Amino acid sequence: MNQETMVQYENQVADYLRLTKNHVRYRVTPYYKDNELLCRGVQMEAQNVEDSTISYNVFIYNVEDGYTLDYATGNTKNDYGGIFLDKMRLFQNGTMQMLSEGLLDGTITLQELLKYGDTGIGTGEGIDGELVILDNTGYKIDENGTAKELDKNFNVVFADIHQSNYEYFDNFENIDLSHLMEQVKKNINGENYFFSIKLHGLFTKVKTRSTRKYSKPYPSLEEIAKNQIEFYAENIYGTLISYYTPIIYQGVAVAGFHSHFISDDKSMGGHVISANIGSVETCYQKFESFTQKFPLDSNSFTNADLSNTQNLDSIIKNVE
Ligand SMILES: [Zn+2]
Repeated sequence: MNQETMVQYENQVADYLRLTKNHVRYRVTPYYKDNELLCRGVQMEAQNVEDSTISYNVFIYNVEDGYTLDYATGNTKNDYGGIFLDKMRLFQNGTMQMLSEGLLDGTITLQELLKYGDTGIGTGEGIDGELVILDNTGYKIDENGTAKELDKNFNVVFADIHQSNYEYFDNFENIDLSHLMEQVKKNINGENYFFSIKLHGLFTKVKTRSTRKYSKPYPSLEEIAKNQIEFYAENIYGTLISYYTPIIYQGVAVAGFHSHFISDDKSMGGHVISANIGSVETCYQKFESFTQKFPLDSNSFTNADLSNTQNLDSIIKNVE
C-alpha cells in the first residue's frame, strides 16, 4: 500500500483533533476489482464539522515504488523481475555440503539472487568475502574487513535470501548476542522452523571474520579456515542479519544461528563470531517454507560425491 501518502492524510486529521476539540467526519473505503484479493486503491474522505479546516476527498492508488503488485493473488514481485515473492519463504542458493566438498564456483549472480528477496547473507565464488544484502543492495566484506557495494554481476556460491517483512520484537540493552538470540527463539517457539532475526543499533563489541578470494584449484575448507582473518570493533552502529536453521538441517544449511554484520558507515563487518549489544531494535521473521536451488548445469556439482557427512559439523562451524 502507498503507506507514506496515506499516513500524511491520516496525520492531518490526527493533528487537527489533537490541537482542537473539534470533530471530523472521516471515511476510508478500499476499492477492489472483481474478485481480486488486493485493493486497487483507497478513497480517503475527511471533513470537520465546525468549519472547513480539514476537507479532502482523495483516491490513493495501491502502488509501491520498486515493486509490481499482482492484485489478483495478492503477491508482490520486485523490480528484478520474474518471481513472485512469498514473504513466508526462505530461499537458499546451494547446499552447505557443497562448500565442504570444495565446490566453490559461483552458481548465481547477485542480480538473479535478488529475484528471491531483498535481505540476505552469503559468500562469493571462491569464498570471496562475507555478503550482506540489505534493501535490495549487496555488500561484500572483504579481507580488510570493510564493506563494498557489489556489482549486480557478482558471482555467489552460497546465500540465504528472503523478502523482508520483519515484525518488531523488542529493544535490548547491554546483553550478549547469544543470550538475545536465545530469548527471541524461546519467545517465538522457534526451535523447529527457519526464521530470521534483524538487529539494528549500537554494538559495544563485535568480533567478525572474513576471507580473501581463492581461485582454482580451490584449497580444502580446513585450509581456508586456517587463513581466515578476524576483525574487532567497539561502540559501532550497524545491522546484523541472522538466520536460524533447525539442528536437523545441518549440512543443508548452517544449523543454529548464522549471522553477518555490517556497520552503518560500512567500515566494518563480516561473519559474526561474537557480539555484545549496547542498544538495538530487534525484529524477527518466521518462514513457513524453505527453497533450495541446485546448480544442475554444473558438472562439478552433478559429479561430486556429497555423501561424506563425517566431520561435516566441525567443518561448517569453522568456515561458515
Ligand atoms: Zn557466514
